[in-house]
Amino acid sequence: NDDLVAAVDRIMRHADGGRRLKVRVNADTGEDCATARTFGAEGVGLCRTEHMFLGERRELVETLVLAETRDEREKALAALLPLQIEDFTAIYRAMEGLPVTIRLLDPPLHEFLPDLTELSVEVAVARERGELTEEKEELLASVRRLHEQNPMLGLRGVRLGIAVPGLYAMQVRAITRAAAALAAEGITVLPEIMVPLVGTVQELQAVAAEIAEVVAEPESLVNGEPVEHQIGTMIELPRAALVAAQIAETAEFFSFGTNDLTQTTWGFSRDDVESSFFSEYLETGIFGVSPFESLDTEGVGELVEIASWRGREVRHDLKLGICGEHGGDPDSVHFFHRAGLDYVSCSPFRIPVARLEAGRAAVAGE
Ligand code: PEP
Ligand code: MG
Repeated sequence: NDDLVAAVDRIMRHADGGRRLKVRVNADTGEDCATARTFGAEGVGLCRTEHMFLGERRELVETLVLAETRDEREKALAALLPLQIEDFTAIYRAMEGLPVTIRLLDPPLHEFLPDLTELSVEVAVARERGELTEEKEELLASVRRLHEQNPMLGLRGVRLGIAVPGLYAMQVRAITRAAAALAAEGITVLPEIMVPLVGTVQELQAVAAEIAEVVAEPESLVNGEPVEHQIGTMIELPRAALVAAQIAETAEFFSFGTNDLTQTTWGFSRDDVESSFFSEYLETGIFGVSPFESLDTEGVGELVEIASWRGREVRHDLKLGICGEHGGDPDSVHFFHRAGLDYVSCSPFRIPVARLEAGRAAVAGE
């Protein structure tokens, strides 16, 4: 067994020798980051923060989304801040010395709202029994107002961050305060703040302005200077790829979200791809491999190339990565190498394959 481990290690080192693409991990806990480091992760390419708001914390976000007063909102934000600081501290410690891309919250809104149908039934029953409170009635009105037919195309990502005052600022505060505290201990942390689902540079500018205010707060300073950080965006809408030159004026890095970019380029619903109808349709042979599994180089891939060229024309050192599922797919890794990306990011157990394929692409002179 030891011989096998040593042999694999030799192969990996050989692949690493020629490799140009870095390989990062998609991970959102300190534990997963530590595992990923043993596989050779060279940073976190995507820390999804959605999972951090499930369980007991979900209620706080629900309060935040439905809050009618500033006071209610601020209480929920104040309760969330220390929890987020803990989350990020654990990740930074595990990834000391390596870049950590933290994506600001990107859930479909309905995940943080009471279910409209259930609530409507509850209200109808209470009304029948003469037990309906004004509070319950108001809650139903709010949930109705926020209800969306297509949550994946609705108030998600940056749209939610802009619509819910203070939400992104709280997360940025946690990102920079946790980083500043560790930096003061001599631990090197390199946070990259990533804004999801941007469609126009104005959305990114709005968040960048908020970030600039937060990093100037005393708790985010190290030796009187804002803690080292970068601001970037996901490119996961065709429009974002097309206006990449404008976006690159504000973004220091792009990370391609090829899951959403595949969904929005093809108009295929991600959430239904596993359903019998959709999976059968994708297996008709018309598509070859499903575009969600292996990158569609003609459509989605061309958008990746367009965004890369246009972005780098404006900002020559624009960092480019990919954090969709394709980041760990062997054929897709070769495409990203040829497209001139700086890194691919994938789940911990796919890191060795990504390293190997990135090495092969370089050795083959692709
Ligand atoms: C993506 O869209 O490719 C992505 C990485 O983000 P998520 O899967 O979380 O939407
Ligand atoms: Mg996405």
